[in-house]
Amino acid sequence: MVDSPVFDNPVPNRPASALDRPLEREIGPRSAKPLATLGLRTVGDLLRHYPTRLQRLGQLTHLGDLVPEEHVTVLAEVESTTSRPMRARHGYLIESVITDGRDRLRIAFFAKRKNIAEWRVGQLKPGNRMMFAGKVDTYRGDLQLAMPEYQPLDDEFGEAEAQAKIDTPVPIYPGSTKVPSWVIQSAVQVVLGPLTADEVPDPLPRAVRERKRMPSALDAFWLVHSPTDAEQWERARARFRYEEAFVMQAALARRRAAARAVAATPRPVRDDGLLAAFDARLPFSLTDGQVAVGAEIADEMASEHAMNRLLQGEVGSGKTVVALRAMLATVDAGGQAALLAPTEVLAQQHHRSITAMLGDLAAGGMLGGHELATRVTLLTGSQPVAVRRKAMLEAASGEAGIVIGTHALLGETVDFFDLGLIVVDEQHRFGVEQRDLLRAKAGRPAHVLVMTATPIPRTVAMTVFGDLDTSTLRELPAGRQPITTHVVPGDNPAWVERVWARVREECDAGRQVYVVCPRIGDDASEASGDGAEPPDAGEEGARPPLAVLDVLELLRAHPVLAGLRVEVLHGRLPTETKDSVMGAFVAGEVDVLLATTVIEVGVDVANATAMVVMDADRFGVSQLHQLRGRVGRGSEAGLCLLVSEARPGSPSRRRLDAVAETLDGFELAVVDMESRREGDVLGAAQSGVTSSLRLLKVTRDEKIIVEARGDAVPQIEVDPDLHSSPALAQAIAQLLDPDREAFLERG
Ligand code: ADP
Ligand code: MG
Repeated sequence: MVDSPVFDNPVPNRPASALDRPLEREIGPRSAKPLATLGLRTVGDLLRHYPTRLQRLGQLTHLGDLVPEEHVTVLAEVESTTSRPMRARHGYLIESVITDGRDRLRIAFFAKRKNIAEWRVGQLKPGNRMMFAGKVDTYRGDLQLAMPEYQPLDDEFGEAEAQAKIDTPVPIYPGSTKVPSWVIQSAVQVVLGPLTADEVPDPLPRAVRERKRMPSALDAFWLVHSPTDAEQWERARARFRYEEAFVMQAALARRRAAARAVAATPRPVRDDGLLAAFDARLPFSLTDGQVAVGAEIADEMASEHAMNRLLQGEVGSGKTVVALRAMLATVDAGGQAALLAPTEVLAQQHHRSITAMLGDLAAGGMLGGHELATRVTLLTGSQPVAVRRKAMLEAASGEAGIVIGTHALLGETVDFFDLGLIVVDEQHRFGVEQRDLLRAKAGRPAHVLVMTATPIPRTVAMTVFGDLDTSTLRELPAGRQPITTHVVPGDNPAWVERVWARVREECDAGRQVYVVCPRIGDDASEASGDGAEPPDAGEEGARPPLAVLDVLELLRAHPVLAGLRVEVLHGRLPTETKDSVMGAFVAGEVDVLLATTVIEVGVDVANATAMVVMDADRFGVSQLHQLRGRVGRGSEAGLCLLVSEARPGSPSRRRLDAVAETLDGFELAVVDMESRREGDVLGAAQSGVTSSLRLLKVTRDEKIIVEARGDAVPQIEVDPDLHSSPALAQAIAQLLDPDREAFLERG
């Protein structure tokens, strides 16, 4: 964890609870060992290893639904069993066919000796109902369970009991062949039996529980592991799902409260400084949203508490101007501002455009500089040493009022004279931890403004960004031209020809075009992360995605495009090349910029009016929306052509259709979220949190998350240090630090 003054706010120590007891002590080392292979080491681990479904004994499992490679536990009836000596080697092969009455599954065993083979055949009598656990695979085209574990039901239930038990649901646990469901089930029963209510801490406050009529933690453990019917099981799951949301929201509420309580240097707005001079020469008037958000930020920065704000806004809504005005206010108040961009291309572009927008206001210390002028310094990892050293000196001396850079700004050797504001641009790749790192970097708490161009669905904002206050720019500046989007079938040569003809027309009219590919095409690039992030890789067949370098040849050779100036931009080019290509495109010296997603965020060239995305189905929805936001930024209408071979009606194609149908980024963000896996939605930075969410799905459980936030916030307000809720404190500690070993050491 980052040693941050802001969040160095540990939850108080909690008394040891029964849930912390090592399984080894409860059920013995021999039973505990296999469970440890599933990561289950304590009573709490085991009890929170919830069954994923209920199997009624009277009802066979649908074998037709099984998927190869899955570990499953199924209830099925033996249809036939044969045993024969093997030809090639010593021993017997016992084969059974098991059935649910409709579909069949082959199971096979080997036996070295005849008496073992006979014993197996005796167990696997036709008509016997049994639980089988194993990994599904294929054998000569049919599904089979190879050497599964099995458990006869008839042993457990005699004839008389059979009817009574037939409706008893059996919980089915995720396990492995070595640790089948029923092994987990019996361990659960052993540890659950002796537990008493006061040994089992309940993170949910009693008042919340009673209002929502939810069972206590101990009752819910019984209901989820030993239900008499499906309703009980669901009731318990609903409680635990809510608990996950509640604990997470309580953790975020504490973070927010702690961050708000931190003192920061107030940076009040001056009306006779740089900001005022800048406003006076702005070539356009601010949108109402920009004015409102600007005031919100100014108010917060004038206070003695650190600002922690997320600014989200549609592509092209003018976030940069909002951020720049906050940076200028910081400089006016005697501080420095740092602007952090996700890529070098974007850092350079910000440096170029901010310097241009400021004009002589950015010429601090130079001949002809405005009397109020400051200096805008670029600092990136790939600068030549001498340039970089000079930039670092300007940051450390305070000469640079605004420092723009990539992650290099987080480098240990970079110092600031008086860092007052940190702006993180275009980022939802920045997790909570990186933001902590930034704040720690500032030494003394700085105000933080995080901007994201991809509108964030509410639930994600409330989790990944739950520690931040949020401002939203909903409107675009007046006079923006609409962008028309079409999906073009990539396997139809006539249509593809039409695409290149449109590119030609656009260039002949004096405008510029982006062509984007999912891949670079040099061998090293595949793992470089410089490319598309498909929501579901490999869905559409085997052809590798189109690469920039392949398409380059195609464009250069195409008669329709003859004479056009085509240049290439991707992440693996040397920095000077990237810089000069981008510079040439900005200057209008390049007609067609053929690129990877390095141009995804922020790149702003008003004369670029058309964008062609090759193999568009390889990109995520939000990514396409971002890309599309690169055109239609000037006075001309924008055109976006999504070329794809995805079949009409396929999930990939439906995502593209959604992009073509709306320009509303919030709507698309929801589509995007729904097509992604849960972990991807929360992002790698949240992996700890993700892994402790067992039942809650950010993509599905918006209502629950909203309610839990409503319950958690007041709880934290009355008891921020959790003195009266040790169980909640413990749950939060585990959520924030799921590394059990570390946790137990501290406890
Ligand atoms: P984004 O929110 O996508 O980062 P930018 O800040 O890059 O958007 O702004 C997009 C373009 O709109 C820039 O060229 C910027 O100068 C321009 N712009 C910003 N605010 C306004 C406004 N109020 N009126 C007209 N143009 C604006
Ligand atoms: Mg921007």
